Amino acid sequence: MAHVVVIGAGIGGMPMAYEMREKLGAAGRVTVIGNGPNFHFVPSNPWVAVGWRKREDIEFAAAPFLDKHGIAFNPAGVKHVHAQRNQVELNDGAMLDYDYLVVATGPKLAFDEVDGLGPNAYTQSICHVDHAVRAGEQWSRFVADPGPIVVGAVQGASCFGPAYEFAFIMETDLRRRKIRDRVPMTFVTAEPYIGHLGLGGVGDSKGMLEAALREKHIKWICNAKVDRIEADKMFVTEFDESGKEKKKHELPFKYSMMLPAFKGPDAVAGIEGMINPRGFVLIDEFQRNPKYKNIYAVGVCVAIPPVEVTPVPTGTPKTGYMIESMVTAAVANVAAAAQGKDPTERATWNAICLADMGDTGIAFVALPQIPPRNVNWFAEGKWVHLAKVAFEKYFIRKMKKGTSEPIYEKYVLSALGIKKLRDGHQTTATPR
Ligand SMILES: Cc1cc2nc3c(=O)[nH]c(=O)nc-3n(C[C@H](O)[C@H](O)[C@H](O)COP(=O)(O)OP(=O)(O)OC[C@H]3O[C@@H](n4cnc5c(N)ncnc54)[C@H](O)[C@@H]3O)c2cc1C
Repeated sequence: MAHVVVIGAGIGGMPMAYEMREKLGAAGRVTVIGNGPNFHFVPSNPWVAVGWRKREDIEFAAAPFLDKHGIAFNPAGVKHVHAQRNQVELNDGAMLDYDYLVVATGPKLAFDEVDGLGPNAYTQSICHVDHAVRAGEQWSRFVADPGPIVVGAVQGASCFGPAYEFAFIMETDLRRRKIRDRVPMTFVTAEPYIGHLGLGGVGDSKGMLEAALREKHIKWICNAKVDRIEADKMFVTEFDESGKEKKKHELPFKYSMMLPAFKGPDAVAGIEGMINPRGFVLIDEFQRNPKYKNIYAVGVCVAIPPVEVTPVPTGTPKTGYMIESMVTAAVANVAAAAQGKDPTERATWNAICLADMGDTGIAFVALPQIPPRNVNWFAEGKWVHLAKVAFEKYFIRKMKKGTSEPIYEKYVLSALGIKKLRDGHQTTATPR
């Protein structure tokens, strides 16, 4: 009987465990290793950071729900993968054998790459619920004594949607509190232009996001490299489109949230043939590591190339639905391998994103994620805010029930022509 070990109980790891369990049936055993006992719904972290959600609204213990489906759970966390020996070493010293390993750890947050960045220094983060709770405590103090805000994403970042989302959410919260007039806001981003999103833009994302920032009186600086951050000031160099230095900025702030660059997880660091120079897990078109063919990876921890070279480095985002498509492909390929067959399934790498702006929101669909695209669509409206709230409830319910693909995916997304697996003729960039 094949033993599949999944590292990470997050947006990729939990659906992976449920889908794998269902697919393998009696032919396999599934174990999830978490970094602690809980699952939390990352896309809702920005709401926790302004007090619109409590931690317990978006977080729950994973074990009881996985257990109902016969999936083992261990919260000890993986210290190191011993790829040559098909074993994972846990933080409590235990060793666990696997036949197939799925790495779904999400990213390591590279706060250390900018002096003064991150929750242990001078800026807030919304990447983890622990950070969002701290950001929320700081927000409560800030609204009692407001001042300038600097928000955005530093050089090397790949996850830009949440930076815009959080800027607009803060703006909405300040307006509701009737203190918006006391808060100058600046959006600082490594993107070459507003709405690039690490994707080379999607539809009219540039025009629409610029208009939204202008309407909300949020200034912006693009092609920005954050040099260092002090307790109340950010030092930023702005570059022009040819990569030449254009201007130095000193931006005072009383509250700042800057998304960091991501790296691959420590658990696979230093494994020859397993990772790229940033530590992301190398995969082939079947989500499989080219050297260790019984190791698969899904989610933010996988290596994919940037969509294009930008004057200040940016990465390509890995969004939720794209991650689900990686999960479905990996499950099918592990199941095939367990029966001695070759893998055949490839994920579609479609990017679909709903970003909340407080009372309204923006949505984009990029099919495939890397241009040129078959669908390239960006829209704004109140419906996005409502859809995002509905999606939060739906995903959390889905993770508690353990259903891998219920009604929403089957009917709504297929009506939009959005599929998780690629037909034979479809092409996308090869992961790297
Ligand atoms: C603030 C924010 C908002 C986002 N909003 C959206 C959105 O609205 N829509 C969208 O499509 N995408 C969104 N994304 C992008 C993406 O969907 C999320 O980042 C998503 O959580 C990535 O899933 P993942 O499984 O790769 O990582 P995660 O969900 O972070 O899960 C990884 C899990 O692995 C665990 N782990 C790490 N190391 C180990 C270890 N050594 N051993 C065991 N466990 C380990 C972590 O603790 C974590 O629980 C957002 C990202 C951020 C940061």
